[in-house]
Amino acid sequence: MTSEPTASGSAASGSAAANRRTFLRRASAVAAVPVGAGVFGLPAGTAHAAGTAGLPGFEPVPVGSMGPALNADGYYVGRIEGNLYWVTDAYYQAMFLSTRHGVVLVDAPPTIGTNLLRAIEDVTRANGRPGKVTHLVHSHAHADHIGASVLFGNDVVRIGHRVNRELLLRADDPNRPAPKVTFDSRYTLSVGGEHLELAYHGPNHAPDNIYVYAPAYRTLMLVDVLFPGWVPFKSLAVSQDIPAWIKAHDVALSYPWTTLVAGHLGRLGVRADGELQKEYMADLEAGVRAAIKSVDPTPYFQEYGPGGNAWAIFSTYLDAVARTAADPVAGKYLGRLAAADVFTFDNAATLLESLRIDSGVLGPFGIRP
Ligand SMILES: [Zn+2]
Repeated sequence: MTSEPTASGSAASGSAAANRRTFLRRASAVAAVPVGAGVFGLPAGTAHAAGTAGLPGFEPVPVGSMGPALNADGYYVGRIEGNLYWVTDAYYQAMFLSTRHGVVLVDAPPTIGTNLLRAIEDVTRANGRPGKVTHLVHSHAHADHIGASVLFGNDVVRIGHRVNRELLLRADDPNRPAPKVTFDSRYTLSVGGEHLELAYHGPNHAPDNIYVYAPAYRTLMLVDVLFPGWVPFKSLAVSQDIPAWIKAHDVALSYPWTTLVAGHLGRLGVRADGELQKEYMADLEAGVRAAIKSVDPTPYFQEYGPGGNAWAIFSTYLDAVARTAADPVAGKYLGRLAAADVFTFDNAATLLESLRIDSGVLGPFGIRP
């Protein structure tokens, strides 16, 4: 697979890029509109009815799940506290410290892209501190969170977990240079009077995902684990170690943070968001465990067994279990967590697979009597 064009390459050229900017501006505008206004001019409450162009309709996003309005360039930059700031495009988030000696940035999501430079310029022009990004911390190696790393050049000091370096060397993506500074368990980054405590507590969403804590501002940045105001992204945030990802909920809450930068969507997190996601996950797990017991596998074996289509048995049976588990949970959280109707089925299906292969809850595929 070829990599995305680099910033110095062709990304900004041609009408495709212009079209993408237009699309993103329009999409951002929609994302920032308080939901009462509805989408595409539809009155609130009908947004979930029929979709346009045959696309599915979904329930409206609760107002409390939305973040601040974006500016005309499609981003919002705000102070968390003191010299700590965050940037969002309503899809992704980055965080930065403005220090006496330059800026320490955590993550460089490509969708925010060059708006990261604009946001940092906005802040440092106002506070008179140097605007050059001297340090770039990688939460983890995934391209959707650090794919704009290339914008910060060769001189920036990139910092990540040891495994982050291994993954990025393997990826060999010009947009994501590997960090030269790595650590195994803990690393305190001190720049110009400001401090970040980086910690590795084992794999979770990704094998290299770290906890970035700003103790002076009681702010934790942990990406792709908690989703303030929303259900987790598809398939439990496409996490690579589901039991460890679930455990990471408690590790995150063991920090004394009051503000969470979760890496996704339009607003910051508070502790109640962590507790609510734990409830959602507990309900989902209870639902999946119950559905493994309650869904009768017989019809699937009868339908596809005689033809020898083993995968059809698995596919239809597992989908039936996930659907049985997901529907009541989606219903319970609609209005409390955005997109409960969008991703709860995928999340249930992923949890089902983890319960089967990680925890040994095998249902009809257990030890043959
Ligand atoms: Zn990720």
